[in-house]
Amino acid sequence: MSEEKNPGFGTLSIWSGEEKKDGWERTTQVPVAHSVSYGYKDLDTWLDVALGKAEGHIYSRNTNPTVTVFEEKMRQLEGAEAATSFSTGMAAISNTLYSLLKPGDRVVSVKDTYGGTNEIFTRFLPRLNVDVALCPTTDHEAIEAAVAKGCDVLYLETPTNPTLKVVDIERLAKAGHDAGAIVLVDNTFSTPINTNPISLGADGVIHSATKYIGGHADALGGVLCGSEKIVKGAYAYREINGATLHPMAAYLMIRGIKTLALRIERQSESAMKIARFLKAHPFIEDVFYPGLETHENHEIAKKQMRSFGGMMSFFLKGDFDNIRTFLPRLKYAHLAANLGTVETVAGPPRTTSHVEVSQEQRAAMGIPETLIRYSVGIEDADDLIADLSQALEYAKNH
Ligand SMILES: *Cc1c(COP(=O)(O)O)cnc(C)c1O
Repeated sequence: MSEEKNPGFGTLSIWSGEEKKDGWERTTQVPVAHSVSYGYKDLDTWLDVALGKAEGHIYSRNTNPTVTVFEEKMRQLEGAEAATSFSTGMAAISNTLYSLLKPGDRVVSVKDTYGGTNEIFTRFLPRLNVDVALCPTTDHEAIEAAVAKGCDVLYLETPTNPTLKVVDIERLAKAGHDAGAIVLVDNTFSTPINTNPISLGADGVIHSATKYIGGHADALGGVLCGSEKIVKGAYAYREINGATLHPMAAYLMIRGIKTLALRIERQSESAMKIARFLKAHPFIEDVFYPGLETHENHEIAKKQMRSFGGMMSFFLKGDFDNIRTFLPRLKYAHLAANLGTVETVAGPPRTTSHVEVSQEQRAAMGIPETLIRYSVGIEDADDLIADLSQALEYAKNH
C-alpha cells in the first residue's frame, strides 16, 4: 500500500469539506442554501433526522448545508474533532464561555484580550458569580500561579491586539490541564495556517472568521473548533441563543478560505519586509512584530508560528498630532477598525480596539498614544513601503 501524506494547507483550503459532495444539480461550487427548513415526505426519516439518528437538516437556525461545509473546512484546517459556527467572532467567544461556565467557577486569562472579550470578563461574567483572574499578558509564571489556585477555563489569545504579544500555548495548556481546566485559544491573528493550538494542547480554538478566514471584510462570522464535547455544548447553547451564521456569510467564508494559505503566505512575507523597513526608519520610535528578533516574545513565536502573520503595530516619534498628519497621507490603506483583509488597514488603537480606555489606562497597558495598528494586505510590498515612506516624510515635515 502506498503511504498517504497528509494534504498541505493549500490543498486543505480548497478541498476540505467539499471532497465527497455531489452538489445540487452537479454544481462544482457550494450552493448558498437560503432555505430556512428542509422537507420530508417520509415521516420516519424526518423523525430520525430530528432525533439525530440520521444525517440531514431540519431548520437552519440549527444546521444548514452551506454552513456545514464552512464548519468542516475549519475543522480540518485546525485538525479538530469537531467544529461549529456563529454569527460573529464575539458570538463564538460568548456562547463558548457561557456554555462552559456556571456560578462559582473561575476563569484565568490575560489583560490583553480583544476588547469585547475583556468586557465579558470584567462586566458580564462577574454578574454570574464567575471569578475572573486577568494576568499580565506575557508573565507566564503569573499565569501559571493563577491557574494553580483553581481554574475551570484558561482563556488565551495570541498574538494579542494591538502590541502583538505572544504567549506560549504549549506551556500554558499544560498548566491548565494540570489544574483540570479547559484551555481555549483565540487564534484569530495567527490563523490555522500559522498556528494550530490543538496540536499544542488546547481543547478549543476560536476565530473571528470576520478577519483572515473570510479575508475580504464583507461578512461577519465566528467558529469554534475543538473536542466533540466542547463543541456539542457550545452548539447546544447557540441553537437556543440563536447566534447562527448566515448561509450567505458562510458562502463568503468558504470562498475566502480558498485563498487563505496564499494570502497568509503573502501577507507574512510582506509584513516582515515592512517591519524591517519601519524598524530602521528615523521617524519611527518602535515596531511590534513577532518576526523581528527584537520582539520580546520572538523565541516563543518562532516555536509556535509557521510564519509571523500580517499584523503589526508601530509608533511614531512625537505626539498624536503626528498621527493626524501621517494616517490620512497613506494612499494604500483603509483607515478603519477591521483587520485581516486583502486591503491594508491602518488605525490607532485610540479609535479602534481601545476606544473606551482612558489615556492613563492605555499607557499602563503599554499602548503609546502614537501607536498605529497596521494590517498588511496583499498589495505589492514595495508599494506599501513606498507609501509608508512618503507619509512618514510628510508627517515629519508638517
Ligand atoms: C475582531 C476580533 C474578535 C471579535 O470578532 P467579531 O467577528 O468582530 O465579533 C475577537 N477576537 C479577536 C482577536 C478579534 O480580532
